[in-house]
Amino acid sequence: MDFAYDAKTEELRDKLLRFMDEFVYPAEPVAERQLAEAEDPWARPPVLDELKAEARRQGLWNLFLPDPEHGGGLTNLQYAPLAEITGRSPHLAPEALNCAAPDTGNMEVLAMFGTEQQKKQWLRPLLDGEIRSAFCMTEPDVASSDATNIATSIVRDGDEYVINGRKWWSSGAMNPNCAIFIVMGKTDPDAERHRQQAMILVPRDTPGVHVKRGMHVFGYTDASHGGHAEIVFDNVRVPADNLIAGEGEGFAIAQARLGPGRIHHCMRLIGIAERALELMCRRAISRVAFGRPIARQGVVQEWIAESRVRIEQARLLVLKTAWLMDTVGNKGAHTEIQAIKIGTPLMAEWVLDKAIQAHGAGGVSQDFPLAELWASARTLRLADGPDEVHRMSLAKRELKRYL
Ligand SMILES: Cc1cc2nc3c(=O)[nH]c(=O)nc-3n(C[C@H](O)[C@H](O)[C@H](O)COP(=O)(O)OP(=O)(O)OC[C@H]3O[C@@H](n4cnc5c(N)ncnc54)[C@H](O)[C@@H]3O)c2cc1C
Repeated sequence: MDFAYDAKTEELRDKLLRFMDEFVYPAEPVAERQLAEAEDPWARPPVLDELKAEARRQGLWNLFLPDPEHGGGLTNLQYAPLAEITGRSPHLAPEALNCAAPDTGNMEVLAMFGTEQQKKQWLRPLLDGEIRSAFCMTEPDVASSDATNIATSIVRDGDEYVINGRKWWSSGAMNPNCAIFIVMGKTDPDAERHRQQAMILVPRDTPGVHVKRGMHVFGYTDASHGGHAEIVFDNVRVPADNLIAGEGEGFAIAQARLGPGRIHHCMRLIGIAERALELMCRRAISRVAFGRPIARQGVVQEWIAESRVRIEQARLLVLKTAWLMDTVGNKGAHTEIQAIKIGTPLMAEWVLDKAIQAHGAGGVSQDFPLAELWASARTLRLADGPDEVHRMSLAKRELKRYL
């Protein structure tokens, strides 16, 4: 067993770490100021365009996509440590490298299942970072952790499909640059349970698409991720060619989409936890209470030590999962993907909570990134499937061996 990164990963890590120091961290306060002064609360800060241009110039672009024709050609194991580094600045770095959710998952869907025309029209501009996209599955009116509940209708009418339904939590859809939605709905409610669904491409400017509002996350708009929109589809007509793969394929596409998406979130969460631990240590050394730095209190040292243990445990399991995805495929890595999706957000949430505590009231304020990072880590116990659903499925798989 070799725990070292290979030469290509080391080279890209060095380059990316330099990019973070020279460009990304200095851009954080600039982006914050630009967002505060922007007329459109959902617009992305102009400094992001500069970061994107620089990342592309340096070859730090589309690294998430294993397919060398469209992306960086890296394995999951090579990409994992890079995604971790981008997680340290989650509002800027992933998008600067064109490696941000939900575009990554949407690009994977188009690369895997799209027709040549769909790739030309939507995948190309997404790969070039010219437009952004959203994935519309979750609905306010049904328990969406069970994807077979999705009720939006997609009905064939001549050369078109007609879409009716209401979605919410469509991440990225508030971004004015978001041009295309991948919408999941039902083409045949009478088919077998997992063959009722389909996915279809809906341009944002199609008549009948009403982007109603951005959902808040613990009071944050998440504008830096393009928000999370509630969207009504009212008799929306799109050409029949916009269907992805075919009627009845929607559930299978959703499964294929979520494997890599989940591991990417976990990789970035490890970077978030590392940053929280760094902030906790720096603060604990510099802040004096009752005559000594709080770093000298046993309880604070316990938080720091325990954080290091939890981060290392999570990282090892994420890397093992990445390796399994490369060697036995996403299906073969199913148990591990679920294990990291359960364990990593909990780990990051715990480390962030301790870092917040070590900062005192400052920790919950806008002067440090911790509160917003905590809110974002907490959502990942819901997004891409709640913990309980992953636990249920993992336990079933485990029990099967004894039945
Ligand atoms: C920040 C954020 C971003 C998101 N982005 C997107 C996006 O881009 N696109 C999109 O389509 N959706 C998105 N979502 C939605 C997310 O995927 C759903 O919220 C999630 O799948 C759960 O669906 P639900 O909210 O309808 O919960 P429900 O299905 O109503 O479930 C509620 C609760 O019931 C419990 N539960 C459910 N099933 C079981 C079970 N089998 N055993 C035990 N308990 C159970 C769980 O505790 C669960 O949290 C996002 C959500 C968040 C918070």
